Amino acid sequence: MNNQATLVLIKPDGLKKSLTGNILTRLSETKLEIVAAKMVRVTDELAREHYAHLKDQPFFEELINYIKGDLHDRKKAMAMVYWGEGAIGKVRQLAGATNPEEADPVSIRGAYGRITTKGLYENVIHCSSNESEARREIQLWFAPEEIIVELYPTKEAVEKEVRRTVWAK
Ligand code: UDP
Ligand code: MG
Repeated sequence: MNNQATLVLIKPDGLKKSLTGNILTRLSETKLEIVAAKMVRVTDELAREHYAHLKDQPFFEELINYIKGDLHDRKKAMAMVYWGEGAIGKVRQLAGATNPEEADPVSIRGAYGRITTKGLYENVIHCSSNESEARREIQLWFAPEEIIVELYPTKEAVEKEVRRTVWAK
């Protein structure tokens, strides 16, 4: 049994098109477990780090605008970690090919994706493509305490004088 974790993002177009429930229902066919989930305001820094491997592509700046929500007036993405046997391949299979016009029409991207007039693939969902990418991405998007299983080694760290917002009560 090869349990894997994979990062799934519902991209801003997926949220704008009200596809969240639909996508979660499709992903439930995999019988994988959701071990982390949250809504995220995608900062410029997070966007550029997430897609760092594509920084030399001609569509990079448009891709950054896309994942930050600038193209859809929805400055958020939904981030989740799916976990279970063969999770990476199972989610990629359901998601379909990167190019929504080449994706199987019954896959998530085939059914709901589109290519913009600028040539960007708006394909409603992100999912990791291999184990090293999954690890890098999950560690980028989530802190250890946000995930309900221990996926990767952790260590204790004491942070002094970290400024953060807490409930005023
Ligand atoms: N992308 C694009 N044009 C391309 C390749 C990629 O617009 O020719 C976008 C698309 O939104 C894709 C994302 O960049 O999902 C990341 O590309 P990657 O090659 O990692 O594809 P994925 O892993 O998402 O299938
Ligand atoms: Mg990829």
